[in-house]
Formats: sequence, C-alpha cells, structure tokens
Amino acid sequence: MQIIKTIELMQEVSEKWRMDGNIISFVPTMGFLHQGHIELLRVGREKGDRLIMSIFVNPTQFGPKEDYEKYPRDTGGDLNNARSAGVDAVFMPTVEEMYPEGFQSTVRLEEITQHLCGKSRPGHFAGVTIVVGKLFNITKPHLAIFGEKDYQQLIVIKQMVKDLNMGIEVIGVPTVREKDGLAMSSRNNYLSSEERASALSLKKGLDLARDMVAKGERNPAKIKNAVMELILNHPFTEIDYIALCNPEKLTDIKRVDRPCLLALAVRVGNTRLIDNVILREN
Ligand code: AMP
Repeated sequence: MQIIKTIELMQEVSEKWRMDGNIISFVPTMGFLHQGHIELLRVGREKGDRLIMSIFVNPTQFGPKEDYEKYPRDTGGDLNNARSAGVDAVFMPTVEEMYPEGFQSTVRLEEITQHLCGKSRPGHFAGVTIVVGKLFNITKPHLAIFGEKDYQQLIVIKQMVKDLNMGIEVIGVPTVREKDGLAMSSRNNYLSSEERASALSLKKGLDLARDMVAKGERNPAKIKNAVMELILNHPFTEIDYIALCNPEKLTDIKRVDRPCLLALAVRVGNTRLIDNVILREN
C-alpha cells in the first residue's frame, strides 16, 4: 500500500493507473475509521481495480465553534485498517498542501445545500464541495463511494458531479450500525456511557416513524411530533432538526404519499449526531 502525501505524486500515480486501463475507486474519509468506512472500502474494492482512500480532516467544512481541533485522529490504526481492506493508495495531504497561501476558489451549490444541515451549519457544504472537488481532481477516480448516513452530502456530491460534468459515478452505501442500532460515526467516540444510551433515541425515532407510516399515518406533523417526543424523553438530547422531506430536493412534504426522507440532527450533550431513513408507504 502506498502512502502519498503530495498532490503531484497522487496525480501521477492515478494517471498511470488510468493509462494502464484500471478502474479507480475512491473513498474520501476524515480518518478514525470504523466499520462504516470499511464497508465503503469493501464496495470500492469490489467495483474497481485500484482503490484509493483519502484521510483529510478538512478545516473548511467545520464552523468556527465546531470540533475541528478535537476531531479524533488515529493515523496508525487507520493505515492498518486500510491495508487489511485492500487499499492500494492512501492519500493523506497536509492542510497546507490542500489550501496553500493564496487559495481562492469555492464551489457553491444552491438549493439543496440550504436545507437540513445546510441551515444549521452555514458554510459546511461549501467546505465539503471544494474539498471533494479537489480530491476528485487529484485522485481522478471512475467511482466514488459515499455513505448514506450523510444523506445530504451524498446528494450534494451527486449534483456537483452532474452539474460540473465530472464523469464520476457516485455510489451510495447503506448506513452501517452498531448491534443496538446506533449509526456508526467517528463522533460516537465523544459520547459518555449515559450519552451513548440516549444517542440510541435517533434510531428509535426512525423506527417509530417507520411503524407509524406502516400503520397508515400520512401526516408529517404527527410523525415529527411523535419522533420529537420520543427523542426528548431521553436525557441530554436537544433537537437541531427533524425533517420529513422529498428525498431528491430536500423540501418539506405535505403528506407521506410517496417515498420520503426522514432526517434527524440531534445534540446529545455536546455531540451532534445525524441519522436518516427513507420512509415508504408499505
Ligand atoms: P467521514 O470520515 O465521517 O467524513 O466519513 C467518510 C465517509 O464514510 C462518508 O461518505 C460517510 O458518509 C461514510 N460513513 C460514515 N459513517 C458511516 C456509516 N455508519 N455507514 C456507512 N457509511 C458511513
């Protein structure tokens, strides 16, 4: 497995792989790998001839009061996991390599970045799109693999690839969960054991909504209220948003009469967690 720190070398390696006729899969991460990341790597390995993973905690996607400084890091463990998952190259640049002095550009998507997490984390998606756009230009993949846990991120990237004609197939992978249902996340590491118990309320809320829809409930307000009540009945929880929306446009729906996205962002203590499910009428 190659460990590559410069943009120039990564581009050279990818270009050569392309010239040799390989299909390149790419999995961008911020490191501190868990089974969710490993699943993306498994899909990338299966679908491509060469697998590149990046590890880069991207400062531009964190707000000024967010957890950039304390975001968990474990490069040694990540490299071991990457090796076992069959990664061919890990791209791990420094912040200066990615954003040298004088850096000027942005990539801004309009409507879909303004709902859900875009509302509560202004500037977040601009940070995501610029870094992923750069990483695509650096790793030159045919396929890029993202998790459905970050649902809005996945559709923002798909839209960017389409709008900018990047010619990359973006593949979404279902959320990997702990045995008890908690969506895996590097941020779960921040939770105390009491908070960890309350964090389960997100998945319980999604399950409750699914049951209500299965039993015929079609009123978004009733579903959202029931989910809110369930979550707030757990200690340490504070709701950022509960949205029932169109899965492509992320606009609120008036009635559950076709597949729709239930997306949650909840603070448990100081940790902000997200989760989602697609609700279907049957
Ligand atoms: P991150 O390192 O948190 O930026 O995540 C890197 C990639 O892993 C993103 O595409 C995430 O959506 C994906 N991911 C994170 N958690 C999970 C999970 N529990 N299941 C599946 N994919 C995930």
